[in-house]
Formats: sequence, C-alpha cells, structure tokens
Amino acid sequence: MEIIHVSAECYPVAKAGGLGDVVGALPKYQCKAGHIAKVVMPMYRTKFLYENEWTVDFKGSANLGNWFFEYTIIKEATNKLGFDLFLVDINGLLDRQKIYGYDDDTERFTAFQIAVVSWMNSWEHQPDVVHCHDHHTGLIPFMMQYCYDFSRLQGVPTVFTIHNGQYQGWMGWDKSRYIPRWDLWKRGMLDWADNINPLASGVKCATKVTTVSWSYMLELRYNSNGLEKLFEFEQGKCVGILNGIDNEVWDPKTDKYLTHHFSAKEVTKGKQQNKKVLCEQFGLNPGKPLFVFIGRLVGEKAADILPDAIMSSIHHTQGQANFLILGSGDTQVEWQFQQMIAPFQGMFNAVIGYDETLSHKMYAGADFLLMPSRVEPCGLNQMYAMRYGTVPIVRSTGGLQDTVVDMGDTDGFGIRFNEASIYDVDYSIGRAVSVYADQKHMEKMRKHMMQIDHSWESTVDEYTQVYASLK
Ligand code: ADP
Repeated sequence: MEIIHVSAECYPVAKAGGLGDVVGALPKYQCKAGHIAKVVMPMYRTKFLYENEWTVDFKGSANLGNWFFEYTIIKEATNKLGFDLFLVDINGLLDRQKIYGYDDDTERFTAFQIAVVSWMNSWEHQPDVVHCHDHHTGLIPFMMQYCYDFSRLQGVPTVFTIHNGQYQGWMGWDKSRYIPRWDLWKRGMLDWADNINPLASGVKCATKVTTVSWSYMLELRYNSNGLEKLFEFEQGKCVGILNGIDNEVWDPKTDKYLTHHFSAKEVTKGKQQNKKVLCEQFGLNPGKPLFVFIGRLVGEKAADILPDAIMSSIHHTQGQANFLILGSGDTQVEWQFQQMIAPFQGMFNAVIGYDETLSHKMYAGADFLLMPSRVEPCGLNQMYAMRYGTVPIVRSTGGLQDTVVDMGDTDGFGIRFNEASIYDVDYSIGRAVSVYADQKHMEKMRKHMMQIDHSWESTVDEYTQVYASLK
C-alpha cells in the first residue's frame, strides 16, 4: 500500500512531543513491513534541513483566501530516515525556527494543508490512503472530499489519528474564506459550536479515526475539551491503537547519547554508571533514589502539582530522595522549579528547556520516572523508561493505565495512583523509596519491564488492518 502521512512534526526533523516520535517511526516500520510509506510536513528552519541533501520535487501555487502563494515541495535525497520525506516550503510562512506558537499559526497550517492537497491532486496516480495526524492536518479529509478543485482525490480513503484531543485548532467562521472553493452545503462538516474546528472536522470527514491508546478512545467520550458528544456519535469508526516506540533509537545497548551502555542482564550496574554521571553533572547524590520528570510543564501533565509534591516528599522522606526535572512550559511552574534549586541543593535540580540528549541520559540514569498526567493519550515517556529499566510512577489514565502494572499486582513493575494530587504523588514517592531499599526487588522489576515488547513491529499490523478495512 502507498500511505501518505501528513504531520506537523516528525523526529528527527522537528519534534515538540510524542507526535514527532510516532511520525518519525511508524512510516519506517511500515516500509520495513513492505508498504510504501511517505511523510510530508512543513519546512521549518531546523538543523536537519541544513545538514541534509534535498531535491526539488514539485513547485505549485495556491490561494489562502485572497492571498496567492507559491510553494515548493522538496524531498530528502538519501532516504536517510527509511522512508521518503517531503517538506513543504511556503516562503515567509512555514520557514521559521519553531514549530508552533506564532500568532499566524492558523494561516500557516491552513496554507500547509492546502499545498499538500493541491500537490497530491496533481499526481497521475492516487495513494491508497492519506493518513493525517492531529488538528494541524484535520482539514485535509474535508478538503479532499468537498473542495471542487481537489475532486480527483474524492475517493481516496483517509485516516485521522488523534494524538492529543485537547488542542483542536479552532478558528472563527470569518476564516472560512481560506478554504478553497467548497460545497457550502457541507458547512456542518467543518463546524463545532459555531467555530471551524479542524479536529472535529477530521473526525467527521475521515474514513476512519484512530486514537493512540484504547483507554484514551473511551476517555474522549467524557473528556475531550467539548467534543464528547462527537466521539460518542462517531464511536463506530474510532479504533484505539497503542503507540509503539522506536527500538532502534531507544535502545540502552546502543543509544548514541549514553556513555555507558547496558542490557537487561547487567541493568543494575549499567544504571548505576549512568546515574553517577547524571548525579555528578547536577550535584545530586547517587546513593539515593533518583526521581525524574521529563516533559511539557503544562496542566495536562499535572506539572503544576509537582513543585509542592516534591517539597512535601523531601520533607516526608527526610531528604532520602533526589529529583531532577527537564521541561519547559508554564512560566509560573518554570519559576517555581528554578526557585527550588538553591534551597534544595544536593537533592533537587531542574533544567528548563528542551534537551533530547539529556532526556536519554535521564531515562538511563534515573530510578523512577514521574508522570502524574491529568490527560495522557498514550504517553511515550513511560515506555522509554521501561526500556531503560526505570520504574514508572503514573496516574491511572489513558495510555498510562494501558501500559503500566502496579508493583502490587501480579507481574507488576510500576507504581500507579488515581488522583493528580500532591497527596497521591507524595504517597507514591514514599512507596518508591521503600521498594528502592529492596534492591533485589528493584532488579527483578527492571529486568521484567525491559523485556516487554512495545516495538512498532508488533503495532504496524494493526494500522494495516485499519487501512485494509477502508476499501
Ligand atoms: P506529549 O506528546 O504529550 O508531550 P509524550 O509522552 O507522548 O508526550 O511524548 C513526549 C516526548 O517528548 C518524549 O520523547 C519525551 O522524551 C520528549 N520530551 C518532552 N519534553 C522534553 C524536553 N524538555 N526535553 C527533551 N525531550 C522532551
């Protein structure tokens, strides 16, 4: 099958979170399984762009409302990522340093989608499926079906994957002029609560919808930022498929970011060596259990409760634990963490920012990973942690509850709690400190979770079944 993935992120080209990881890996494993998977994404000004070779694949033009623009599709020349990678260059609009966060993001991603659809419309053949990811590509199924200029694509099946239903790309109806000539009777396919809602439109117009875990699919029916009724209504075409992880990138035996490599067999020694390096770098004590948090410092991740929960457990455990934070997001939370560095020197440190290298070192060197998320569609961090023998401490929600078994249950290896509250996090850290004292138990849990298979190889088939059902 020829599968065209359309996304705003793709690791290692540009990544802000889990979406990038998934779109960087799934197509690679689809190609290994014998499909022709391709990725098309915006051309940002990233390191990857300047360090690689490109050929011009197509030049075209389109309109965003009254604004006429030209676009260029460039292709990575060496198949470096294991699949064909295409970038869409729209001068002045997409070629920026960051992926998101500009005032004109609506215009940027709408123009991107128009360019992608108009490019595919120019092909002599048609792909077997167009696979769109999150709201930045949510208007594509609508455009393919209801825009007069793209009628050649009308019969091509589409899959829309929801990695995060909280962000929906809302825009006022005044922006409907951006969408190329469309069948005005189909207004309802764009609308939700008197706005154009790209995420809702993707759900309504795609042939099939997938979410990145089974539990998240169910959760969307009662917690999806206003779209609960829609998910209830469309449940017949929604399928939950748990994300995989790229076992080639995330492998403690070969990880290019680590100084000390290890396998499940020598996990205790390997982790100790990595922990020592990390603790030296951040002034922490390698003799104590090391708890880390890696992620966006936002409400979804319940990062706001972490400063108080950490201070509370430093108090309750009488300083018997170390904490290291890596993340950025809400300025208030960033500030709180920064304020904690001096008074808790020797047991707490924080790096505010995004650092891929450090994140790998933290998965390898930590004993426990904290994920108190209020919402977690799949969550990759806990799977990376497991692969590196780090015990995940998670709230029972979405993909976290689909992947982590509490150590109190049969074959358990993690710690689960119910509320995103200071009390629950503090209590769970207490449980972790107790189990850390029993190094034999720790080793058993580490070895067990390192052997769990979350690879894409085993997940690719589930997507293939979804594509096959579209005909
Ligand atoms: P989300 O996509 O909601 O942010 P996921 O758990 O699905 O969460 O994926 C997060 C990904 O982003 C993981 O690969 C994680 O290691 C990475 N990540 C998040 N924040 C940072 C950061 N500050 N520095 C480095 N990597 C980060």
